Amino acid sequence: MKPEPLWIGGREAAPRGGESFPVRNPATGRTAARAALAGGADVERAVEAARKGFLAWSRLGPRDRAARLFEFARVVRQNLRELAEIETLNTGKPIRDSMDEAGVVADCLEYYAGGVQKFFGETIPVTDRGLDFTLREPLGVCGLIVPWNFPMMIASWKFAPALAAGNAVILKPASLTPLSALMLGRLSKDAGLPDGVFNVITGPGETAGRALVEHPEIGKISFTGETATGAGIMSLAAPRIKRISLELGGKSPNIVFADADFGLCVERSVYAVFGNAGQDCCARSRAFVEKRLFGRFVEAVVERARKLRVGEPRSSRTEIGPLISPAQRRRVEDYIRSGIGHGARLLCGGTPPKERGLSRGAYLRPAVLDRVRPEMKVFREEIFGPVLCVMPFKDEEEAVALANASDYGLSASVWTRDIGRALRVARAVKSGVVSVNSSHSVHLEAPFGGYKKSGVGRELGLKALEGYTEVKNVFVAEK
Ligand code: NAD
Repeated sequence: MKPEPLWIGGREAAPRGGESFPVRNPATGRTAARAALAGGADVERAVEAARKGFLAWSRLGPRDRAARLFEFARVVRQNLRELAEIETLNTGKPIRDSMDEAGVVADCLEYYAGGVQKFFGETIPVTDRGLDFTLREPLGVCGLIVPWNFPMMIASWKFAPALAAGNAVILKPASLTPLSALMLGRLSKDAGLPDGVFNVITGPGETAGRALVEHPEIGKISFTGETATGAGIMSLAAPRIKRISLELGGKSPNIVFADADFGLCVERSVYAVFGNAGQDCCARSRAFVEKRLFGRFVEAVVERARKLRVGEPRSSRTEIGPLISPAQRRRVEDYIRSGIGHGARLLCGGTPPKERGLSRGAYLRPAVLDRVRPEMKVFREEIFGPVLCVMPFKDEEEAVALANASDYGLSASVWTRDIGRALRVARAVKSGVVSVNSSHSVHLEAPFGGYKKSGVGRELGLKALEGYTEVKNVFVAEK
């Protein structure tokens, strides 16, 4: 099997070390492709190419850059099906989710193509006589390091604003899921982006990723992944005072009051934790339910969870695909065992499905645990799999305390018809995103990011353009 090459300077590039690694299909366990294993020398070449790309790209005005990014979006839409199929092959996510996510890549490019034309500095009335104004300048070459759960979508949240703001990028996908990033590299060329503006290197985080973080010519690292990896990146970046943004883990609460719209809340709560097989940083994995609704809610959620169609990801009927790898499934099963061992009760799922044809994939039926206590690992740690912990609460104060009893603070949902209560809880919960009567955490137009150990900085919205630029203040004295 010929390995997928790197994408450097607008063309395919073989890795200097000549090595490659297997890329698996989580639905079958088989090798779907091989990808080039980049080392330090390849990162060096990518930085060199990106520096050249940056010179050409940053010389273009916002309107010209926007035109290329609109074209990039059009090319992505033209190749939507193929991109989605590659993503499904590589991640095991249901094809309909991959189609939606490929659409988001195009939407995101369009949003920032439009956004950058309305993005400018300020004039400031300083005390000294003269004119004071700010300029927004690109950072140069940005290193974008992304995880395996939403490979192309999360990449687009980074490369679309970075490129719009005038930077060149080097994208490093997770080793488990490099294929869609490589395809996006090729599509960027079809869209007419200058050579070197969009580079992709594939390889392990500890070597290729680390080389990016430590490279002195890289102006910013935008990272999404585990909190522990993020902490490591923060310390690697510290000696160089490198700009970083970190989107990290979560253990998001789903707070349900007895006056909620029951049907809607049950339906959304189920997808909010089991969608993407629970491998979602925003998964509402801790449901807190007002005592008098608790029994009814749990019964309905368990019934709905049992009916979720776990299956072959290429089927348009499938709602839940396999986990990313057998190792990830073992990790999730260990969590479930640990919960049960400490007194939690498994109400459904937590075992591989029995259906024929699914035995080779890393499938796991959605699990619901009750009798959970805040000191348990299943309550405190990010499981990153299809596991929901449910707990009752007696009043608003207790609900907020339970929601905030976490090192993480990424997303939260509140379900109630009482507007005053919705506002009070939205203010009291310590997380970067709160959704009221909704489980949507992400809107391209609004800032997204975490409190506490869920991260530093914000993605999306016009805020993201700020994150990919430096502010320069200019004062011109008046004679
Ligand atoms: P991970 O931290 O293992 O890897 C993420 C990326 O970092 C990969 O590309 C990996 O190769 C690279 N990497 C690993 N070690 C590195 C190092 N020392 N230097 C530089 N790069 C390195 O995370 P994962 O397992 O791919 O993804 C799952 C995690 O991502 C979960 O914790 C999840 O919550 C988090 N996540 C967060 C968000 C968010 O927006 N907050 C979104 C999606 C996923």
